[in-house]
Amino acid sequence: LFNKQDPPDVEELGKSTWTFLHSVAAKYPQTPNKEQQGDMKNFINIFSKIYPCTWCADDFKDYLEQNAPKVGSRDELGKWFCEAHNEVNVKLGKEKFDCNLWKKRWKDGWE
Ligand code: FAD
Repeated sequence: LFNKQDPPDVEELGKSTWTFLHSVAAKYPQTPNKEQQGDMKNFINIFSKIYPCTWCADDFKDYLEQNAPKVGSRDELGKWFCEAHNEVNVKLGKEKFDCNLWKKRWKDGWE
């Protein structure tokens, strides 16, 4: 599907980035301390400025302004990323993902 010799297009970049972001949530502490919560907020903020698809980044920044990142626990963060991803799914006419299942998809597996 993706030619590994070519620079990534918006789809490949997106799929790879969602894999990264949901995996970050899967490894985020269940009870993060203040520093970990602050680091995650900073990361999401910087991410929104440097994401290398400018129109994607602009919409994500708008989303952030309306929906402050929830960094109080692993499950909060995982659901927050899931809802942010759903926002893009809806914009692109794709199906929404059931955010109660994010941990099965990105952490524990479907068994
Ligand atoms: P992806 O949407 O990449 O999803 C990968 C896998 O994640 C899916 O197969 C599914 O198993 C799982 N998944 C799907 N939805 C969820 C969810 N809500 N929560 C958890 N897991 C889920 N593309 C554009 O064309 N325009 C944009 O403006 C745009 N903005 C983006 C903004 C950001 C921050 C990112 C990271 C990506 C953006 N993209 C954008 C790319 C787009 O979201 C998709 O990654 C791309 O279209 C490839 O889609 P895909 O069908 O391969 O699956």
